[in-house]
Amino acid sequence: MSENKVALITGGSRGIGKACAIELAKAGYNIAISYAGNEEAANKTIEELKALNIKAKSYKFDVSNKEDCTKAVDEIIKDFEKINVLVNNAGITRDGLFLRMNAENWESVINTNLNSAFYMTSPIIKTMIKQRNGCIINMSSIVGIMGNVGQANYAAAKAGLIGFTKSLAKELGSRNIRINAIAPGFIQTDMTKNLDTEKIAEHIPLKRLGQPEDIAKTVKFLAEDAPYITGQIIGVDGGLVI
Ligand code: NAP
Repeated sequence: MSENKVALITGGSRGIGKACAIELAKAGYNIAISYAGNEEAANKTIEELKALNIKAKSYKFDVSNKEDCTKAVDEIIKDFEKINVLVNNAGITRDGLFLRMNAENWESVINTNLNSAFYMTSPIIKTMIKQRNGCIINMSSIVGIMGNVGQANYAAAKAGLIGFTKSLAKELGSRNIRINAIAPGFIQTDMTKNLDTEKIAEHIPLKRLGQPEDIAKTVKFLAEDAPYITGQIIGVDGGLVI
């Protein structure tokens, strides 16, 4: 078995997930990333990861589908032999005022952003228990803490991840498995590309939007340098939520 630790990052092909993959690769991890459909972005990320002299492979599957997740985890464990770090990062938005929110937009956000964490974590936790170590990082959001106009579905999913994180941390601490969440503020990725960045920055104490690398550094810290931290929700938001 390879000496390198293994990290699996869902939605690791673009944005925050990609930055996390690169940061962990720089720390010597072998990397599995998942993506939904943008093959070109996934291939480019894999090239960048391999240039860091680690093993890297991408997996195309829908994190909102339980069977797809179970099959993919099987394949990843066959390919990499273990999973030390799982970053439940893949997510979408389907924004709209609640009065006009239909069930499809509610369900797709809950399935992709919240149920996915259950679908991915369930099979992986068994491996982590056998290994007697593991670190899970759930990508929540400040919106899960504060709520937001037009994001009832997204806020519900992200708040759900917070409860999930705290409960799992209590259940699995005795197995040497740590579970934490990150609550990013506004981070510059495709997801936020249509926002008025100057206007938003005015309300942020650090007067700028975050970069994916700001989140990635926190992921690496939680994975590598935080052996006594579990069940925490780490705000990485430039001071937006104080
Ligand atoms: P992004 O740039 O839109 O990237 C999303 C990633 O998730 C892509 O790799 C995408 O794959 C993948 N994905 C989406 N739906 C999927 C599905 N059904 N199955 C598998 N993979 C799927 O997003 P981001 O801004 O980096 O956000 C990453 C996470 O951080 C999300 O959970 C988001 O809610 C959270 N977050 C973001 C911000 C922000 O300001 N950006 C703030 C707070 C929290 P494809 O490339 O194939 O589509």
